[in-house]
This record gives sequence, C-alpha cells and structure tokens, in this order.
Amino acid sequence: MSSTYTNRQFDLARQQLVSLLRGKGITDTRVLDAIAAVPRHVFIQEVFRHRAYEDSALPIACQQTISQPYTVAFMTQLLQIRRGEKVLEIGTGSGYQACILAEMGARVFTIERHFDLLETARQRFEELGYNIASKVGDGSIGWSQFAPYAGIIVTAGAPDVPPSLLRQLDESGRLVIPVGDQSTQSMIVVERQGEEFVHTKSAGFKFVPLLGKEGWRK
Ligand code: SAH
Repeated sequence: MSSTYTNRQFDLARQQLVSLLRGKGITDTRVLDAIAAVPRHVFIQEVFRHRAYEDSALPIACQQTISQPYTVAFMTQLLQIRRGEKVLEIGTGSGYQACILAEMGARVFTIERHFDLLETARQRFEELGYNIASKVGDGSIGWSQFAPYAGIIVTAGAPDVPPSLLRQLDESGRLVIPVGDQSTQSMIVVERQGEEFVHTKSAGFKFVPLLGKEGWRK
C-alpha cells in the first residue's frame, strides 16, 4: 500500500528512475541531477503515490495529468537553460516541472488556468522551499509583465505556436512546445536568433490540450 512506502524506498525508486532516463537517452547531467533531487511522490495523490517513480503520466486534479518523467526530462533538456535565467512555464499542473526548473537554478514563472491546481502547487513550492512566481490565467498569451524569457516551456498540446509566446522570448531564447491535433503532437523547438525564429521538430507525444485565446477554443 502506498502509505507504507518509506522515504528510503522512494529515494531508491527515484535513483532507479534516473538510471532509466539515462538509458532512454537523457544525457544532460543537470537535468538528471534535478530529477534525482525533486521528490516526485510529493506531487502525486495518495492513491497513485506508489507509482510516483514509474515512467508514466499520472492523473492529478481537474482531469489533468502530471507529465511522464521522460517527457519532463526530454523537454527540459531541449530548453538548455542555465542558472539564473528566466523561464516561463505554461501549465503548472502539479508543479513538478516548475520545481525541476527551479532546482536547476532557473528563475521560474508559471501559469495555470485551474485555480485549484495552482493552489496545491503553490503549497508544494513552499513546502519544498522553491521560490517560484505563479499566477492563474491563460498562458497561451504568455506573461508579458516579466518578459523577455530565456526559455518558455509549454506543457499542454497546442494547435500552433502562439505568436505571443514568440514575442516574449529574449534575443536568443528558446520555446519548447508540443504542437499537433488534440490526440498527438510533435515536440517543436523554436530558437530565436535575433530577428529570426528557427524551428526544429522531434518525436511524437501525447498531451492534454492547451486551451485559451491562442490555444484550443475547447
Ligand atoms: N507541467 C505540469 C503538467 C500539467 S498538464 C506538471 O508538471 O504537472 C498541463 C496543464 O496545462 C494542465 O494543468 C492544464 O490545466 C494546463 N493548461 C491548459 N491550457 C492552459 C492555458 N491556456 N493556460 C494555463 N494553463 C493551461
């Protein structure tokens, strides 16, 4: 039963997850170190907690999901963020991805459309000692107040790359976003090089939809 798991068992399971991710091709040690440091079980409901270190997405409140660890690692690796840089995350969900970025030394800003999810995520940020700025709102239009960002990561599947997000990247900023239809998406990286935006595309994924003004209209 989940409640009988000890912290030591969770620590061991987390180390095994890190080895698994390394085996699946995650090479950035800063990403792997962050996954080794952030207790994913804290972000997961009691009933699923015994599965916290499986490499799978799990249900959270409001019919949403915490992303699969591989997806978190893959996207974070694509973001290529350095300590002290500003990162905007769209889709706070459980708060796990935001904590991974904070653990890596990024200055994290995160937006969630569900108030209930954000409230729970905020409690976790505080409990774990991460200083993360967050708000409830439509993240498909970004968070212009604190722009520009060195990195923007969208953790929900979008119909297209929202132009507002491109405008909020700094001169050499990177946007990582799953784009496709509502069932499958490709991971897109848009790298700003001054006035140019260079797009690259990789593997297929499955995300919950990005709703909003520059997302899906439901
Ligand atoms: N990064 C999260 C994964 C959450 S799933 C984690 O680590 O747990 C994606 C989240 O995006 C959902 O919580 C959903 O409510 C949110 N979302 C969808 N469209 C959004 C929008 N336009 N603005 C902000 N959040 C959005």
